[in-house]
Amino acid sequence: MTTLQLPTYADVEAAAKRLEGYANRTPVNTSRTLDERLGAKVFFKCENFQRMGAFKFRGAFNALSKFTPEQRKGGVVAFSSGNHAQGIALSAKLLGMPATIVMPQDAPALKVAATKGYGATVVMYDRYKEDREAIGRDLAEKHGMTLIPPYDHPDVMAGQGTAARELFDEVGPLDVLLAPLGGGGLLSGTALATRALAPQCRLYGVEPEAGNDGQQSFHSGAIVHIDTPKTIADGAQTQHLGQYTFPIIRRDVNDILTASDAQLVEAMRFFAERMKMIVEPTGALGLAAAQQIQDQLKGKRVGIIISGGNVDISWFCELMGR
Ligand SMILES: *Cc1c(COP(=O)(O)O)cnc(C)c1O
Repeated sequence: MTTLQLPTYADVEAAAKRLEGYANRTPVNTSRTLDERLGAKVFFKCENFQRMGAFKFRGAFNALSKFTPEQRKGGVVAFSSGNHAQGIALSAKLLGMPATIVMPQDAPALKVAATKGYGATVVMYDRYKEDREAIGRDLAEKHGMTLIPPYDHPDVMAGQGTAARELFDEVGPLDVLLAPLGGGGLLSGTALATRALAPQCRLYGVEPEAGNDGQQSFHSGAIVHIDTPKTIADGAQTQHLGQYTFPIIRRDVNDILTASDAQLVEAMRFFAERMKMIVEPTGALGLAAAQQIQDQLKGKRVGIIISGGNVDISWFCELMGR
């Protein structure tokens, strides 16, 4: 068995340097209404205001910045229909290298257009007949491209950790921090920053109730695989944690919580009505969980990472009508 080289907080710091001048230092917003309701002081790290609308830009840009000149020439390949695709496409454009994104034929036209808009080549595949990983590997081999996965990669994880680093830098130590959980890139990076900058802080990952593989894995000690969960939180429809993300989550996170789709809609409505923010369903996981553990938050300083704001506006309106 080969031992994996897990990223450390030093890698998060190095990522922060690479991102300087490229990533937005996103705002930390607060709400008196919420503070009164929870009897706590809540700080939202607003990655919905990150470039391309989600934290994914951080990890993508960090990973691509580390390419050798030869890798840059061959360019990057990624398979995703969501925020990772856009993060990779934008980062490649900024760094002047070619990007190829493998997307399902039935991906939303808007997302395909956004990815092409950043200058990436989009390769379509039939998600019922073809294996996207095989397509990605094939492209990588034939054309000398480097494959960057959405979460299970040390450079991606280190980049994602820079959001929490900025949060602690801005507001100081926290008692509790909540971050959305899909494959664990964001949570593992957040964990590295938390243990370095606020070691006493209780850190929770939050995933959709319909797909609690992270919770099961955390409690059983082995990575649990599930079928693609049915949830409105499309950024967290992952089937399993990664071989790099899991050991860090298991070591440095206090627990994994879940939120139902109805709770996500309620949190999205709060963001829209009270804080004038459009937050995508996955981005609302942290607040949705905070409302369930209210008792633990009394008198505490609480951080919540809003991971993204990319949601089709007509779908957003439909959800708000529920
Ligand atoms: C990708 C994504 C997540 C989940 O991140 P992981 O690193 O896969 O855990 C959460 N929220 C948004 C908006 C995302 O795009």
